[in-house]
Amino acid sequence: MLDRTKIEALRNARVPQSGHVIDGVARAASDGGTLEVISPLDGKVLTTMACGTKDDADRAIAAARRAFDDGRWSGMAPAQRKKILLAWADLIENEALELAVLGVRNNGTEIGMALKAEPLSAVGTIRYYAEALDKLYGEIAPTGPDVLGLVHREPVGVVGAIVPWNFPLMIGSWKFAPALAAGNTMVLKPAETASLTLVRLAELAIEAGMPPGVFNVVTGKGSVVGEAIALSMDVDVLVFTGSGPVGRRLLEYAARSNLKRVYLELGGKSPNIVFADAPDLAEAAKVSAGGIFRNSGQVCVAASRLLVERSIHDEFIEALAGVAKSMKVGDPLDPSTAAGAVNSLTQLEQNLGFVDEARALGRDIRIGGSRILEETGGYYMAPTIVTGVAPTDRLARDEVFGPVLAVIPFDTEEEAIQIANGTDYGLAAAVWTGDLSRAHRMVRAIKAGVVHVNTYGGSDITVPLGGVKQSGNGHDKSLHAFDKYLDLKTAWIKL
Ligand code: NAD
Repeated sequence: MLDRTKIEALRNARVPQSGHVIDGVARAASDGGTLEVISPLDGKVLTTMACGTKDDADRAIAAARRAFDDGRWSGMAPAQRKKILLAWADLIENEALELAVLGVRNNGTEIGMALKAEPLSAVGTIRYYAEALDKLYGEIAPTGPDVLGLVHREPVGVVGAIVPWNFPLMIGSWKFAPALAAGNTMVLKPAETASLTLVRLAELAIEAGMPPGVFNVVTGKGSVVGEAIALSMDVDVLVFTGSGPVGRRLLEYAARSNLKRVYLELGGKSPNIVFADAPDLAEAAKVSAGGIFRNSGQVCVAASRLLVERSIHDEFIEALAGVAKSMKVGDPLDPSTAAGAVNSLTQLEQNLGFVDEARALGRDIRIGGSRILEETGGYYMAPTIVTGVAPTDRLARDEVFGPVLAVIPFDTEEEAIQIANGTDYGLAAAVWTGDLSRAHRMVRAIKAGVVHVNTYGGSDITVPLGGVKQSGNGHDKSLHAFDKYLDLKTAWIKL
């Protein structure tokens, strides 16, 4: 699929100005002017995009409200809704490489990962929920003989979605695919630094025959468009993936408006725990390096804390550093690149700030720690391993969202559990051990939405993803995702 010639032809293709998709109209009128889109590959202006206003968001919400209330989507025969969603998936698949390259130029993810994790993953997700939508049944309750208790499942209404920049199509589709399949309508706001591909997806939805107003995308600033969606009295459910501070605000906005339900997928500081009895330490080192350094660490489930049993600490770090050094960092449109660009200069500076702080505390910057390839104008950072980190250090507790690994040694299983659970987060974790009982004990003891055993990061659409503690609530992916988008209604009928 990675056709180098085609990628090179797309690398410098002109990117037209991007606009909102509202009420079935691509490049919908907007009075908010435009924002420059800076490519992290070279720090240059890639294109401009519509800078949405509150009015733009309100028009999109009104369109979604009308489209929901008149039943043009929720009242459509399920087989027809499925057909449109499947046609949409086909159109996205046909344009997968174009979308992947556009996305890479917008957010910096390496092309190999971007193609699979972005358009192709969105295609798979849309197909999964499209296929599921006519397999959702209500219930007949086991009531007494003189009544009939029916439990209907109904779409909730207008869904607002606010998504981040690291995997806009993958994370976006985890929300819009089940929401739309269930019969809801949506207004989605992409992140400022990764909007272009989601806008294109919305344009393709029109082409696939999705009725106007069902799927609207409004680009612009979080503090304007995002806030307008979150404060709207006409949005029934708000789904969000992003940072904790913005998640907190959304809960406040819901409280200040219509008490809309808010589902949050927030950050993580995921512990990757390597015991001395791990079956294959070389494999553990290889997978652990990928777990933190792919996409330059800009992955919510990144394995950003490495807990290593002290007896193998030096040997393991040696192996890990070897793998990390062999990973090619740089031009994300080169298929041999293992880690592309950091999304923005702000994010890069934030990453370097964490390293400076660790250095000031006397921690050992084992490899990396600096910006690289500055001459390209792009935002690249060397994979960074910091050893001797104390569990109380900010680097051990706060999410960096960059290629910076905090290494913490431990002596016993109990200590590993204590350190692993010692942050406010609870998104993902991994345990490397050859002891089956220990593996099961650790899965039970670790507070996280997913615990990997002798691997890291594997997943597919059939299993749920969600955080505990301050990593969020609710679940994306799997059939459980429908719970957010379907209400239960009881009919109590006297017989
Ligand atoms: P962010 O919270 O800064 O922004 C996310 C979205 O919120 C963007 O679209 C932004 O425009 C919008 N926003 C910003 N301020 C807003 C406001 N006041 N009101 C409404 N919307 C507003 O996050 P980010 O920097 O784009 O993404 C990185 C974060 O996302 C990291 O913390 C990462 O862990 C998290 N993340 C979590 C998951 C997960 O599944 N748990 C997945 C990917 C990323």
